Amino acid sequence: CGIVGYCGNQEALKILLQGLQALEYRGYDSAGISLKSTHRIETLKTKGKVIDLITLITESNIDTKARMGIGHTRWATHGIPSSENAHPHFTDNVSVVHNGIIENYRELEVFLNQRGLKRKTQTDTEIIALLIDFFLKDKTFEEAFKETVKLLKGSFAIASISKDENFIMAAKHESPLVIGLSDNQIFIASDVSAMIEYTNEFIFLEDGDTAKISAKGITIWDKDGQKVKREPITINWSK
Ligand code: GLU
Repeated sequence: CGIVGYCGNQEALKILLQGLQALEYRGYDSAGISLKSTHRIETLKTKGKVIDLITLITESNIDTKARMGIGHTRWATHGIPSSENAHPHFTDNVSVVHNGIIENYRELEVFLNQRGLKRKTQTDTEIIALLIDFFLKDKTFEEAFKETVKLLKGSFAIASISKDENFIMAAKHESPLVIGLSDNQIFIASDVSAMIEYTNEFIFLEDGDTAKISAKGITIWDKDGQKVKREPITINWSK
């Protein structure tokens, strides 16, 4: 339902939570975040509201100084609303948030099961995390993400992080995803309203786009895997 992401020189947590709160108007049943510290991703998620997630965070010892992370508010389509089914979905190496529906997730699950990999949750989304992790065996995170996205059918906006890389990988197909631009930091969101507090310059990804996003820069590939330039648009709009 709602996606946020941050990479930059500020603490990611506050920005992600404010972004999720700005997306609450869309309706949702659960919320979660993943924060990346040095070679480590920590994830907290819960059924309920962003305020419940904040309580969980306050009671945890998550590294609040992390400068990169992703967050999600879920509107369940596959699997009941529960803390397990809430996003982000993660493995030992990667974490994923997803809006939309992976229509061929059963087929992809067979591929994973044949290789001894099983879902722990009831969601279509977990398949994405498992596939990226599987391809990481002999590929970089960027390649593994792209390889996974090629296999997906359905509608999706996806953001993913790896414990070993300082960039966010994103993909968009029939579900909105925008990149917010600012000096030394970068935002990602399913909706401009999540990040309008921090920037008014946005790149709107197009269907079939894949992006590598870091504070150092953005690279975007189109549906044919060709590098493309998408011009930023200035939104003159305040909350
Ligand atoms: N299909 C996914 C799920 O049920 C994503 C739903 C959403 O867009 O929030 O977890």
